[in-house]
This record gives sequence, structure tokens and C-alpha cells, in this order.
Amino acid sequence: MTARRGRGESEMLLKDLREKVVAVGLEALERGIVHGTAGNMSIRDEESGLIAISPSGIPYPETTAADVVIVNDQGEVVDGRRKPSSETPLHTMVMRARPDVRAVVHTHAHFSTVVSCIRPYLPPILTEVCLVAGARVPVTRYGLTGTPDFGESVLEVLDPETKAVILRNHGLISFGDSFASALAISEVVEEAAKVYVHALAANGGREPEMVPEELIPEMTERFRAGYGQPKEAGVG
Ligand SMILES: [Zn+2]
Repeated sequence: MTARRGRGESEMLLKDLREKVVAVGLEALERGIVHGTAGNMSIRDEESGLIAISPSGIPYPETTAADVVIVNDQGEVVDGRRKPSSETPLHTMVMRARPDVRAVVHTHAHFSTVVSCIRPYLPPILTEVCLVAGARVPVTRYGLTGTPDFGESVLEVLDPETKAVILRNHGLISFGDSFASALAISEVVEEAAKVYVHALAANGGREPEMVPEELIPEMTERFRAGYGQPKEAGVG
């Protein structure tokens, strides 16, 4: 690339977070989680509170770190040569409401969107989704895309534990303390939505069997206490 830049690459504000936004876009594309320019991702800098967010309408493979936009938690552009994602209010409203959330991944996941058109929530269809996203993944009312109303529709169903919200007639949004966790939650919710839609069809449209909701708190506790390798400090 021969384009001149206003400042050197090394001086780019929050370069590491901008690079993470580029990388998660490519990763999501590779894993079939997003297509074209649909979807958007953001990550918050814990120190400054600033947010690196995908630019509007640039295909993932063409997006560079310099295209990623830095906004404050009110969605105002602090640094960047591009327009931020049209869904910036959605991201910043979630970040303001949930200080624990560091990364947000919004996609147009197909089966989650199917569920959004037919149910008020994704029920506990798979053990795994219960463990990572809770018993029910809520579905919003219809929110006006690209406006604060869209963010408001998410806040209405958001509680302090919510890991993912399905957006009525639109898609899915997941939250995590890193892009890896937000992306993983997106995949688990989408897989559960897929199983649910297929189970409904295979069952003649009748509600399929669910994970018993009364068992979910205990199994979640066991999962958090005992799954995987002992946690190392600082792994993000
Ligand atoms: Zn969208």
C-alpha cells in the first residue's frame, strides 16, 4: 500500500485493539459466522474506556487496522479516517450498561434469526448453551436498526448475567471479556438455535424436549468449578 498516512503506524491510537478488530472479523468470516459486510465487532480499552469498532460497510478482508474507528462510550469518533459501524449506538449502549463487557460481536447468524421470528427466547435446547449463555437467550422486540432504539431494545432484555441477545428479525449479539469468548458464545448460541429449529421441524412443529431448567444452576456451578485446565492469571 502506498497511501500516505497522517502519522506513523507505531503512533496509531490503540493499535493493538484495532488489530484485534481486524483479526476477529477475519476469524468470523473464516468460521462462516459472518458474510460480506454484515455484522460488526467492538472491543473496549480497559484503561481509557475507549472503544475500537469496525468501520461501516468495508468487507472484512479489506479492512485494515487504520480503518478501524476509535469512539468514546457515547459513540463519538475520537480517532479514525472512516465512519464507524452504523450499529455503533448498539455497541456503546451495551458497553455503558455492562462495565464487565469488553468485547461485543454482532452477526446475522441464520438460525438465531429464525428463532427471532418465532419465539420470545431461545429455550434450553442444548446442555452447552445453558452452560455458556444461561437457560434462555432472550429475543428483543423489533428495534429500529442503526438508531439508539435498537440498543434500547437490547437493554430491555439485558440483565447482569446475559451473555447473548437475539435481535428480532435481524440477528445475534454476544458479549464477552475478550473477542474469543464473545465469538465462542455466538457459535454456541447459533448451534443451539439450529438444533432447536431442526428439532421443531422433526417434531411436527411441536415443542421438543428441553434441558430441565431446575438442573441448570447446579450444572452451571459444576461446569464453572471443574471444566478444563486450571486458570492461569492474565490469559485473555
Ligand atoms: Zn446487523
